[in-house]
Amino acid sequence: MTYDLIVVGGGPAGASSAIICARNGARVVLLERGRFPRHKVCGEFVSAESLDLLAGLLVPQHARLFSEAIRIPRARVFLDGRMLPATVDPPAASISRLDLDQALWDSAEQCNVKGRQQIAVHSILGTGPFLVKTSVGEFESRALVNASGRWSNLNAAPHVPNSYVKWLGLKGHFAEPSPLASVDLYFFDGGYCGVQPVNIGDGAAQSGRVNACAMVRADVASTLPEAFLRHPELQERSRQWKPLSDPVSTSPLVFREPQPERDGVLLAGDAAAFVDPFVGYGISLALRSGSLAGECLIPFFAGSISLPEAACNYRRRYGRRFSPVFRTSSKIRRMLSLPQTVRIPILRLLETTPALTRYLVSKTR
Ligand SMILES: Cc1cc2nc3c(=O)[nH]c(=O)nc-3n(C[C@H](O)[C@H](O)[C@H](O)COP(=O)(O)OP(=O)(O)OC[C@H]3O[C@@H](n4cnc5c(N)ncnc54)[C@H](O)[C@@H]3O)c2cc1C
Repeated sequence: MTYDLIVVGGGPAGASSAIICARNGARVVLLERGRFPRHKVCGEFVSAESLDLLAGLLVPQHARLFSEAIRIPRARVFLDGRMLPATVDPPAASISRLDLDQALWDSAEQCNVKGRQQIAVHSILGTGPFLVKTSVGEFESRALVNASGRWSNLNAAPHVPNSYVKWLGLKGHFAEPSPLASVDLYFFDGGYCGVQPVNIGDGAAQSGRVNACAMVRADVASTLPEAFLRHPELQERSRQWKPLSDPVSTSPLVFREPQPERDGVLLAGDAAAFVDPFVGYGISLALRSGSLAGECLIPFFAGSISLPEAACNYRRRYGRRFSPVFRTSSKIRRMLSLPQTVRIPILRLLETTPALTRYLVSKTR
């Protein structure tokens, strides 16, 4: 069977493209290598900008995931012995990837998307139409969205300079009695660790769970407990924690220039670009770019534009909407790697000028 659209990758980017196109009558197949539900390395901070979009993508059966999610109205940055408080306004939501990815997958299937798990895509042939070779055979489609994430066999390996030191992502859930509704970012030389309260499953039935998610240089730490030791306040806080999930990890983490389209294939989410995790915008970017890719393909399925025109529209709209996010977050990344003597006066300025902090945060959205 030839589909209108093949989507590779069942994370937030792939599921949103699939839902948008299927709701508009396209015949869509969503191919996922893994199996849901599963934990994923992620701070699970879903920024407010995409909450309405997320609510609109979910079927009513999963509406509670959104309505009962813990809200995060504040942030605290622990750096160089200081604590910089900030308001998160409007508040973000904390949603576990165990629940989020499963809910989006179910929602796609209920919109008539043909969901196929445990199928690995090996190669994509053509520039439209497409022939896709997988672990279970071949699929054909008129259009293709690659939402296979940051580091997949389908994406060209990013340029890694000789001086590159490997970075890891580490994550686990822990029991902490009555955690504050705040996203706490503990920065140290060679990385940072974010901590925030989170629920899984029926949130009403439990509380007192936090997600700890670190991005660290491999020569600094290779496990979460090692990362906790790098920051005195975090070390103190984590002393009482009991693990509630098996730890998960990912590597390497490499940043590169965004590439939203290649050879007629629309790239969405991390497959197009990986935004610094500490700005808490990766899930939003995945939902928004995945939906945008779907929106740009709808006129092609209706026969009013060609595939190259749809791809060109996506590239232009992607650049306009998301380029500022990448520019600002890479500036903040550079600031964080400045020597402490330069960083401290900048921090003092941010501490005494909340409007400046708010402005910086708004530029990462
Ligand atoms: C340390 C760390 C902390 C983070 N914290 C946050 C945070 O707090 N908030 C936030 O918004 N973002 C955060 N992010 C970023 C966020 O996790 C990603 O941006 C988001 O998961 C991107 O979604 P996606 O759908 O593009 O990709 P993914 O969620 O990675 O989904 C891609 C899917 O494609 C599948 N796949 C890959 N290759 C193939 C193939 N060949 N065939 C079939 N399927 C395939 C994979 O199995 C996967 O399920 C963090 C990232 C890291 C590393």
